[in-house]
Amino acid sequence: MIAFCPLCASDEYTSLDMDPDGKQFALCSNANEHGADGYAWIPSTPSGPERNTRSDSLGIDLGVWDKLLECVPADGEFHSYGEVEDTFFALYPREASTLQNRYGHRWREGAKSDGTYSMSVYLALRLSELRREGSLEATWLPAEGEWAYNGVISHWRVR
Ligand SMILES: [Zn+2]
Repeated sequence: MIAFCPLCASDEYTSLDMDPDGKQFALCSNANEHGADGYAWIPSTPSGPERNTRSDSLGIDLGVWDKLLECVPADGEFHSYGEVEDTFFALYPREASTLQNRYGHRWREGAKSDGTYSMSVYLALRLSELRREGSLEATWLPAEGEWAYNGVISHWRVR
């Protein structure tokens, strides 16, 4: 199966990979568009029924979608992924540490990620599902602070 990046509308930089739980995800590593960490999403099966956007079992256990929505201020502005993740750590430290212990993080204290997958990819996948639901909009803008290595990073706005 070839994965088309829904943002680039191209498969030039895409690949399919497995997360640590054995679930498939697609990654577009077009750094000009999505930054060094790329853009990850769950590919839908072409012939399958319309995919439930809130099907990740750990996400259901943690209530991660509603909690992520609380981390994006509804002020009409775009907020960087880093700000969303900081807020998630501040509001939901238990859920954040569960994810960090499982998937690691590139630079935060605690469990580290050494592969392409990390808790940040996990949360970005869940944010993408909220985008597909129509709850959030995304754009890519220059990354700052600890995230500057990305070049650009996703920014999220409540619709
Ligand atoms: Zn792309």
